[in-house]
Amino acid sequence: SMHSSIMWFKVEEIYNEFEHKCGIIKLKEVADAMTMEMHAGLACEDGSKLKMLNTHLNNLPTSDEEGVYYALDLGGTNFRVLRVQLAGKSGIKSQEFVEASIPPHLMVGTSQALFDYIAAELAKFVNNESDKFHLPKGRRRELGFTFSFPVMQTSIASGTLIRWTKGFSIDDAVGQDVVAELTQAMKRQGVDMHVSALVNDTVGTLAGGRYDNNDVAIAVILGTGTNAAYVERAESIPKCHGPPPKSGEMVINMEWGNFMSKHLPLTSYDSSLDAESLNPGEQIYEKMISGMYLGEILRRVLCRMADEAALFGDTVPSKLKTPFVLSTPEMSAMHHDTSHDLQVVRDKLKDILEISNTSLKTRKLIVNLCNIIATRGARLAAAGILGILKKMKRDTAKKGETPKTVIAMDGGLYEHYTEYRTCMENTLHELVGDELSEHIKLVHSNDGSGIGAALLAASHSRYL
Ligand code: ADP
Ligand code: MG
Repeated sequence: SMHSSIMWFKVEEIYNEFEHKCGIIKLKEVADAMTMEMHAGLACEDGSKLKMLNTHLNNLPTSDEEGVYYALDLGGTNFRVLRVQLAGKSGIKSQEFVEASIPPHLMVGTSQALFDYIAAELAKFVNNESDKFHLPKGRRRELGFTFSFPVMQTSIASGTLIRWTKGFSIDDAVGQDVVAELTQAMKRQGVDMHVSALVNDTVGTLAGGRYDNNDVAIAVILGTGTNAAYVERAESIPKCHGPPPKSGEMVINMEWGNFMSKHLPLTSYDSSLDAESLNPGEQIYEKMISGMYLGEILRRVLCRMADEAALFGDTVPSKLKTPFVLSTPEMSAMHHDTSHDLQVVRDKLKDILEISNTSLKTRKLIVNLCNIIATRGARLAAAGILGILKKMKRDTAKKGETPKTVIAMDGGLYEHYTEYRTCMENTLHELVGDELSEHIKLVHSNDGSGIGAALLAASHSRYL
């Protein structure tokens, strides 16, 4: 076919418009909006797009926990089965895990198919374990279930699914008690285990983080999706009636992925991504900042450039038209390409999109687009954290003693996308200033969500 040349003026027009829109984020306004929505969500059910869910968890681990406990961590992409041997004050004696990816057809199938698959993996794990982990006669294994979707908890070990997020859509599970679903599947698969705690991944990360560091008060996940949890004063939760817990505190699962504000810098790419998603109108913040979507935003910008400015020749390459073909790890690899002629970008374009013969100028353009998208996401995530600090009144340095606030971070995006992580950390520093920055620390809580769930299974054991 005849090759028309790239219309660079048009490329620049699209690029400049996108860069401009993504660059003018009013971070303080976004943070203030987050704080306001937190108040509204705590005031009454459905008071905000932020669910601000009561987790029924009023005590975080103390490091007195002892014994062998299990965790099952169902995320958006993978799930893990974990066994942790806790030795009281001397900490974690041993831990072991297996990880498996969730077959995509199970994400959109039936509840029974998904839970049977998970329970079967659990069965394999315990059937392979050595004798030294066998529990005393009459005692059943106990499990913390990390479930990274919005759940209305009715107790520490039960709760109904509000709706699916990320790539999941299993209609018959919505409104069901996910612990009951898992328990029935375990029965069918012949696994003898008792679910002692149902925890969101943010709550698990908070618990795992607190076990390591007493100053942990917030947890944020940046993985396939995004969410945050924090420790709230019980008296600041008007929607919770009944006697306050002894500790005076309650862990709140914010479900911040569903945050929405007129200050979010939405572009036409975000709007079309949302409209064509499994959950239109929902999780707008998540769709701008989390791992499932960043690569897809890039694909959409490139599609427009291919279509309107012939960036890759006469026609739009067919691979580029496939939704979600460009994953965030691939985008991250291109963004971090340090070779002088951008070889990684060249290889990715060829391998994933079947586009060859690109010029260095085109490849540089792509790296710059990665940077715009990652920077916007990272800065919005930092603004969200400032919103939580404000709600907790920890956003200003105090005269005398300023409390230390440690934020436990986890998720594949935070862990592996260095440019994103660095930008997020720098933005948070910029927002709180040098002085307060000394008192606020982000720590990577590796696998905290799984270990945290096992710790919570221990502290909520029926044998205590
Ligand atoms: P989940 O969110 O499913 O519990 P993870 O926390 O492991 O799982 O996060 C997985 C997500 O992290 C992936 O979907 C991807 O978006 C993102 N991710 C993983 N590796 C990378 C990487 N190298 N660069 C950027 N993002 C990554
Ligand atoms: Mg996870």
